[in-house]
Order: sequence, then C-alpha cells, then structure tokens
Amino acid sequence: MSTEQVDPLIGRLIDGRYRIRSRIARGGMATVYLATDLRLERRIAIKIMHNHLADDQAFTTRFVQEARSAARLAHPNVVNVFDQGQDAGTAYMVMEYLPGITLRDLLKDYTRLSAAQTVEITSAILAGLAAAHSAGIVHRDLKPENVLLANDGRIKLGDFGLARAANANTATGQALLGTIAYLSPELVTRGVADTRSDVYALGIMMYEMLTGDQPFVGDTPMQIAYQHAHDTVPKPSTKIPTVPIELDEIVQWATIRDASARPRDAREMLERLQQVSAAIMAAAPQQLSTDLTRVLPHTTLDRQVSATAMTDVIGGRAAPDVWPSSRSTTTIAAPTAIDPTAAKVTALTHRVTRRRTVGGFLLVCVLVLAGIAGTTGWYFGSGPGSLVTVPETTTLTLAEATAVLTELGFTVTPAEHSDAKIPVGHAIGTSPATGTAVRRNSHLTLNISTGPRILPVPQVTGQPEATARTTLKDFTINATSISEFSDSTDAGKVIAVIDTDGKAIPDQYPELGAMQLIVSLGGIPDVVGLKKDDATAKLTQAGLKVTTGDSVFSDTVPADSIAIQSNPKAPVRVGAEVNIQLSKGQDLVTVPPLAGLTISEARTKLKNLGFDITVNPNPLPEEVEQQVKVVKQGVASGTNAKRGTTITVSWKP
Ligand code: ADP
Ligand code: MG
Repeated sequence: MSTEQVDPLIGRLIDGRYRIRSRIARGGMATVYLATDLRLERRIAIKIMHNHLADDQAFTTRFVQEARSAARLAHPNVVNVFDQGQDAGTAYMVMEYLPGITLRDLLKDYTRLSAAQTVEITSAILAGLAAAHSAGIVHRDLKPENVLLANDGRIKLGDFGLARAANANTATGQALLGTIAYLSPELVTRGVADTRSDVYALGIMMYEMLTGDQPFVGDTPMQIAYQHAHDTVPKPSTKIPTVPIELDEIVQWATIRDASARPRDAREMLERLQQVSAAIMAAAPQQLSTDLTRVLPHTTLDRQVSATAMTDVIGGRAAPDVWPSSRSTTTIAAPTAIDPTAAKVTALTHRVTRRRTVGGFLLVCVLVLAGIAGTTGWYFGSGPGSLVTVPETTTLTLAEATAVLTELGFTVTPAEHSDAKIPVGHAIGTSPATGTAVRRNSHLTLNISTGPRILPVPQVTGQPEATARTTLKDFTINATSISEFSDSTDAGKVIAVIDTDGKAIPDQYPELGAMQLIVSLGGIPDVVGLKKDDATAKLTQAGLKVTTGDSVFSDTVPADSIAIQSNPKAPVRVGAEVNIQLSKGQDLVTVPPLAGLTISEARTKLKNLGFDITVNPNPLPEEVEQQVKVVKQGVASGTNAKRGTTITVSWKP
C-alpha cells in the first residue's frame, strides 16, 4: 500500500460543489468516485473522464451528450443522472449513488441464477432499456458490469454513453474481450447498432445468467466475434436442463442472427417475458410448497440449510408485506412514490443475512409460501444485499473512513502502522483490501498511518554522488541533483544534503522523506590572463554567464587579456554571472619638456598629466617658485613613464 500511488483526485473539489471522497471503480474511460454534493448535502457518485482523454474533443463531446441523454431518462431502472459538466477541461457526470454490486459480481458469486431470478433481473433491465429505446437511445454496451444491484434491492441500468464513446477509442484487448461477448452479429460484421443490438446483448446476458457461461468462448476476440457472426446461440436448456422452455425461446428469439427477426426493442422483449413470467414464477412455488428442505437442492444455489433456521425466519416475519413497487420491475411504469414498506423489508432481510447467509434464500421460500407474487427479495440474503465491495478509504481521516465503512454495514477495528506517504491519522487502507467483495457486515481492519518512521541520516558529504544516493536509499532523493561550484569539494562529490525548502537535513529524518543533493562542479574556472574569447568560452562551457565590465589598466596583464574576474558570492549555481574586465595594459604618460618653465608652471603641468613632483634641492615659497626656472628634469622629456611616477625638477641656487 505504501508504495501505491494515491489517487490525486481524492479530496478534490469538482466545480466548487462535489467533494471527492473515495474511488468506487476505475474503468478504461473514466473513474467512478463516491463524492459529497456540498450544495445539497448528499452523497452522489461522480464519473470523471480520464485526464488523457480530455484532449480528445470528440470523446468529450460524446461523453457530455450521452450524459444529457441519460439525464433525460428518469426511469426507476436507469441510474439517475443529476448533473454533468466540465472542470478544468475534464468532463464529469454526477449520478445517484447506489451502494451495492454489479450483476457481474453476482454472477461471480453465484455462478448461475435460477429461472425466476433471471426473469426478475432481466425484466428490470428491459424496463430501463425500454425507456431508453423509446427515447431513441441505444445503449450499445449492455453487459453484467453495467447493471447495478443496489443493497436496497433496486436494479438499475448504468453506463450510458461510454459504449459509443468506447468505440471511438482504441480499446485494449482485454476491454474488447469483455465487450465482445455481447456484440451482435450486425455490429461484428457491419459495425451498425440499433435497439435490436441491445436486445441481442440482453439475450446473451440471459443465457449467461441461466447457465453461468457465455455462449461463445474463444482464445481471441476474433474467434468470439466470428461465432457471433456465424453461429447460433444454443438453448440454455442444453446446458442446464431445468431451464424452462419459455426462457429458451426468449433467448433464442433475442439472439437470432438476422436482426429483423428479433424483438424490435426492449419493450417487445419485455412484453414477451411478462407473458411467460407468471408461469415461471408459478412453477417455483409448486416445487417449494411441498417441502422446503427437499426442494432447496433443486435451486441453483448449492448451499446448506437447516430447518431451524427456516423456522426462525418464518417466525420472525409477522405478515407478508407488499414489495416496494420500485423493485417490482415487471412493469415499465415508474412508481410515483417509494413504498414505505421498503425499509421494513430491507431491515428484515438484513437481519436474516446476519443470521445465516442462506437466510435470504429461505426468505424467498417463505415469501413464496406466503403466496406473495414475485421473488424480488431473493438476493438480499445471499445476493447483492449480502455482498458489499470494500470501498477505497486511502487518505481519508480515521473518522471519515470509519463513517464510510460503517455506513456500508462493516464493523471496523483501527490498527496503527507507519507509512511513509499517508499523513498521520489518515487511512492507509483496509484489510480485506479495497475492491474485494465481502459479506455484508464483515469485519474490516482499518489501517491508520502513524506517519513515516524517523530514521538516522547517514553522513554523505564528500562522497561521490552515486555512492551518496545508495547510502540514502531509505529516503527519496530527487532524480536531478543541484550542481554548485565549489573550491573546497571536488567535482562530482556531495557538498551538502538539503530538504525541499533548501534547509540542511537534520540527523534524523522521515523515511522516504524528500531530499536533494548538492553536488560539486569543482571551482569556477580562473580566466585571468586569458584572451577575451577564450575566457568567455571557458566560463560559458562551465555553465556560467559572462558579463563584461570596463577595461582597466594593469601592470601585470598585457592589454586585451582578462585583468579582473569577479565571481558571485557562494552558493554559485549554473547560470550565475561572472564579470570580466579586460586589461588596457599599463597606464603610461609621455614626460613633457620642463626646462625653461618656472617651477610653478612645471608643478601644474606634471600634476595635470598625473605625475608627482619633487623640487631639488628643496621646494621654495610659492611667490619664489613663480620666478625661479627649472634647469634640469629627473626623467628626460619624451620618456613614457607610468602615471603617478615622481619626477624631480632642479633649480640653481
Ligand atoms: P465504465 O465506463 O468505467 O464501465 P461505469 O459507469 O460502468 O463506467 O461504472 C464503473 C463501475 O462503477 C460500475 O461497474 C459500478 O461498479 C460502479 N458504479 C457506476 N455508477 C455507480 C453509481 N451510480 N453508484 C455506485 N457505483 C457505481
Ligand atoms: Mg461499465
């Protein structure tokens, strides 16, 4: 867990309204999160298109369009879409949150379903699909993964729109294989889909529910596609002899290769299913009514059952309730209100679940015995009502994670572990882990981070960079080091280790804590005495910038070479500026002829030229120097002497 990347969207606020709490599922195109709608203060599910698809304008447009179509549907068997939009270019869709599992999870757990169960689920899907079809929407991606079975018993069709979008995108082999199992012949051969392609997919799903297998299997997507295009879907009863002939017929009708011979749309298929469902439902209680213990082994669920458990359940149920109409999915009409008995029924079934996993199935028997039409409650005890997917809790606080888990019915024991990445007091994850489907009311261990371990930091200054990196393996060293010029540390060796704020690393530091190495580039190149071009090349090559100052006279450096190099103050990094100044050579002045001038005149002249003067044998008062003439000068006229040289002038006493 500690090495796993935390989903950066968790904790984020989308469009200033939806706070993302945890991840529910990650698919090829989008990720579904549990979130809180801050405005309406309710939990919602939000589907967020993957970031890398945001650039695909066509994809984004379709995502948005289809979200709108789904939003228009408003049917009890279609996942309700509340809102859609874009945040920072990424499209998202807000839906009602349906805690529960998918039909795929159910099939994994049960292998196959009874005829009655298949009828119930198929009817619900068809009711939702009929609403879509009459609104002109083709789902295109019908599969058990996209049928949501909520803990409260609602059965809903979801994932509208991504199917079409999915075709525009390059699907991975795996994803293609998952979808190809439900692809109609016309989609395989011509790439066209209408309502009858959805009907075909539903026929395949019925086959799968009844037999536990898909009709066509193969090693490659091509092989499966070929069979869809050329083979006939067998009768489910050839595999499971107890499948009623009426269901055989519906599966065969829905999966006829020639689309025009299939039911026109979901409504026609649903009407046919409704005609036969009474007979199928009636067949079940007949078997069950004689003797429960004798009948149970006939069911598809191979589970042990005890007579006492049954009595418990029978005794625990006071009077037959009417099932909530939202779950009585054999009618297309939307219920206008939630049946108040729903909560009671759910509570009852949850109690049964706790008693024994098989309890729910017994409940079915009880309901049937009580003469209640339909067996809608069957999956509470051993189906969706008892299977809950462990949600993502990573990075939530202890309180948040506990709330998320207990709301789903889990009991939670926190345990403390150090973790280098998850902040103190936040969840590292659970055991069993996120995504595991476990029995309702299971016990989970919630691992809470005590933060990273604090480790002593080994001394690495002066070591070669590679050695230092190995020595500091318990910490996170930035891939690139900071290079610095240094006179005292050889090139390639570590000068210092700092944290991300640039402060020196203390003796003790958190495990996997971020560090940066400062590695020496050696000293700044010395360019004094070089020609300007050479000096510039040398400094530039070392990664330094060169600025040029005023040229200066120099006694030591010949003209046109570098006389002065001014380096910046340490630390000096690549890109720092070094100032160079060229030599103008020595500062020489021609000594003028002085004989015949008064000492005063000679003094002014020499001073103006930058020379100093001494008067020999001695200086005279100013009025006298204005009269007395120079007879000799110490440096001959015409000589080039350094500025500042002292020149002796003599007079005759
Ligand atoms: P994808 O395009 O990735 O298949 P889906 O819409 O099918 O996206 O959602 C992926 C999964 O997320 C579903 O299989 C289901 O487990 C979960 N999921 C989707 N919508 C909801 C929802 N409204 N409430 C709870 N879980 C949901
Ligand atoms: Mg899906």
